[in-house]
Amino acid sequence: MSDTAAPSAPLSDDAAPEKRDFIRQIVREDLAAGRHASVKTRFPPEPNGYLHIGHAKAICLDFGIAGEFGGVCNLRLDDTNPAKEDPEYVLAIQDDVRWLGFDWHDLRHASDYFEVLYLAAEKLIRQGDAFVCDLSADEVRAYRGTLTEPGRNSPYRDRSVEENLDLFRRMRAGEFPDGARTLRAKIDMGSGNINLRDPALYRIKHVEHQNTGNDWPIYPMYDYAHSLSDAVEGITHSLCTLEFEDHRPLYDWCVDKVDLAGSPDLVAPLLAKGLPKEASKPRQIEFSRLNFNYLVMSKRKLLAMVEDKLVDGWDDPRMPTLQGIRRRGYTPAALRLMVDRVGISKQNSLLDISILEGALREDLDAAAARRMAVIDPVKLVLANLPDGHEEALTFSNHPKDESFGQRSVPFSRELWIEREDFEEVPPKGFKRLTTGGEVRLRGAGIVRCDEVIKNDAGEIVELRGWLDPESRPGMAGAERKIKGTIHWVSAKHAVAADIRLYDRLFTVPNPDDESEGKTYRDYMNPESRRTVTGYVEPAAASAAPEQSFQFERIGYFVADRYDHTPERPVFNRSVTLRDTWATKA
Ligand code: ATP
Ligand code: MG
Repeated sequence: MSDTAAPSAPLSDDAAPEKRDFIRQIVREDLAAGRHASVKTRFPPEPNGYLHIGHAKAICLDFGIAGEFGGVCNLRLDDTNPAKEDPEYVLAIQDDVRWLGFDWHDLRHASDYFEVLYLAAEKLIRQGDAFVCDLSADEVRAYRGTLTEPGRNSPYRDRSVEENLDLFRRMRAGEFPDGARTLRAKIDMGSGNINLRDPALYRIKHVEHQNTGNDWPIYPMYDYAHSLSDAVEGITHSLCTLEFEDHRPLYDWCVDKVDLAGSPDLVAPLLAKGLPKEASKPRQIEFSRLNFNYLVMSKRKLLAMVEDKLVDGWDDPRMPTLQGIRRRGYTPAALRLMVDRVGISKQNSLLDISILEGALREDLDAAAARRMAVIDPVKLVLANLPDGHEEALTFSNHPKDESFGQRSVPFSRELWIEREDFEEVPPKGFKRLTTGGEVRLRGAGIVRCDEVIKNDAGEIVELRGWLDPESRPGMAGAERKIKGTIHWVSAKHAVAADIRLYDRLFTVPNPDDESEGKTYRDYMNPESRRTVTGYVEPAAASAAPEQSFQFERIGYFVADRYDHTPERPVFNRSVTLRDTWATKA
């Protein structure tokens, strides 16, 4: 094997080192050995929910490998389970894949192939490889055996080809009620792999389908539909998660027995639909699922959380759905960085959420402009400035990247500063403002606090200070050494904003742990969302929805995708500047 194996495969990013995980090595070898002229992959979500962070790994892998090796990737909706699927999900899935920065070669539905799958099933029957079984679901279970005991043959296993064909056609014609019969593969009831014990290929389900309406009273089972859909599309490398490893022999059985590549008559219905005939023999390769602590990622649980109103919907910024984390302020670049860091292996593990948060911090540190915002305001009046004093200060938008340019920040006699940046009785080591003490106002000068004004309840309502005129920008005393620097906004110019302070949705690392009779519901973090009213500088208020900033000293925030307006800004905290949980313990 050599790296010249894929001449048509420039890396998408010249600066990025070539990735050498075991899947890419297999692809390289297959190309080098001439097993395929080019690479074709697919991302095959079932449209029964929204995509989550785990899917981002599969998407980056499926689309990434196709791109790196000069191939293509299809988006295929594996819509063989009519009851649970919804067009709303189909649209969201497309939105998510595009948002992550990928585009598909073809958009397909497994249901596009129902006719092909049906003809393939008749072929299996004619070959003696499938039979119609009248056992009920309970009986099938009883006949199946266990991990340690072989199963028993169905009493219907030896039906003649003619009888099987007749019954299967009548299943298709809708003559039988749900569950009355199944079409089963005839493989081996004694197999050590339970998936090979005459698995069902078709079941009867009189349910309307989101794509095919009421055309079909029978629906193909996942393993059958999935393997043959891959074959129909000419997929070369079918990447999936480890739980399908035990299904691979069945996958191969379906592909080999049906032999779509060698059966032009079977794929003829595709031509009628205007789809190309490109059947191949695909190869399934499994990799480990992505799992993070402090998250739940099963679509079933996410659906329950939405339905039971534990969150505000699929796109609640606390949800691990791609729609949710997008709204939270996660960027496609951060997710791709996370996927690269995590790598590809065959070892399932529960990763620390700090890997995800760290990738976001790293991306936003480089990509987000700096702004000032005060989220728990207290007023500071600079009493030695004349009434109505205002000026425009020039700030650079990024400390490490001049290409972000500069902006004008209004400054005036009355400022908002953070309540926690002032202490009347400062704890040891406190470097911010205290009565009689000095602090630097970021980019504006050095202030001393002379007076604290309180209301009847004893709460501080205003601080009065003196701004050292010699410490103003450009003045001789501007660089005078001072312990602390705090941020501020001009009270007259700042815009009141809803600041949504999001935190982890669960309080424990493994909310999926159901020992002691608990469920994830028992571990919900009551403080996972707190909304406060703060003030942001004008150059933050005018943000476009989904624009991210670092609010200096506070964290990374994004203008809410739906609710933000320049008149009433709404910012979501994406992530704090530092990992505040690491020290909580
Ligand atoms: P869930 O179990 O969360 O409901 P799923 O596996 O049923 O998800 P599908 O829609 O069938 O979701 O998944 C589409 C593709 O995404 C599959 O190839 C699947 O293997 C992959 N995938 C799903 N979850 C993860 C994950 N956590 N990590 C990596 N890949 C995943
Ligand atoms: Mg699934």
